[in-house]
Amino acid sequence: MSLVFATCRLASGLIAVVCLALASMTVPAAQSCPCGEVKLLTQVNESDYTPKIGLSYARTPQYKKEFDDAISGACATLSKHQGEKNLAVVSDIDETLLDNMPFFEKHEEEVEWKDFFAWVDESKAPSLKKTADMLAQARKQGLAIFLVTGRMEKLRKGTIDNLVRNGIAYDGLYMRSNGDKAEAAEYKSAVRRQIEEMGYKIVLNIGDQFSDLAGGSSEDCQKLPNKIYYIP
Ligand SMILES: [Mg+2]
Repeated sequence: MSLVFATCRLASGLIAVVCLALASMTVPAAQSCPCGEVKLLTQVNESDYTPKIGLSYARTPQYKKEFDDAISGACATLSKHQGEKNLAVVSDIDETLLDNMPFFEKHEEEVEWKDFFAWVDESKAPSLKKTADMLAQARKQGLAIFLVTGRMEKLRKGTIDNLVRNGIAYDGLYMRSNGDKAEAAEYKSAVRRQIEEMGYKIVLNIGDQFSDLAGGSSEDCQKLPNKIYYIP
């Protein structure tokens, strides 16, 4: 199963100056893809997603453009909600906020979960600075930041230490129960509904997988590039 954006509305508008500085020197058309429009649709060829392919793609101008466009879109969304209360942003962690490239560079041929868990426990992944800066700006603007990750609870300490080490502030960290086998989109959309039930309106959801975004419960979704792996 694959997840694709059925449609993406092209949106343009004023983007906060601080966000412009974060994204790029030019003003790209901001893509706004409401979560309700992210759908399970097509098949995916898993051989198109490997550490080798993903690491190579991450060095291309297209990767940078996709990343910058997503951040610009996120910033455009934030700028529409200046002064509003009870708003929240949801962000994924891996390849969205924390960068596991140093790990995948050492495990280009084959990735074993035990090695990845050991890497997480080392807490030394660098941040993806454009996402981190955008989230910091959102929090300064008064929005609550909820991190929703597919990492399991047993990785909570390593994850928190890694976030702290990168100076990333947040208001909630949702992790899968150990051994949870639910589909990513199912787990993540259920968490977003919990956040809404607390009284927050989620205006932005950002992630590197379509399964981070599918299932609604956000006004805007932004998809970051990732060809290292695919999570259905
Ligand atoms: Mg991710």
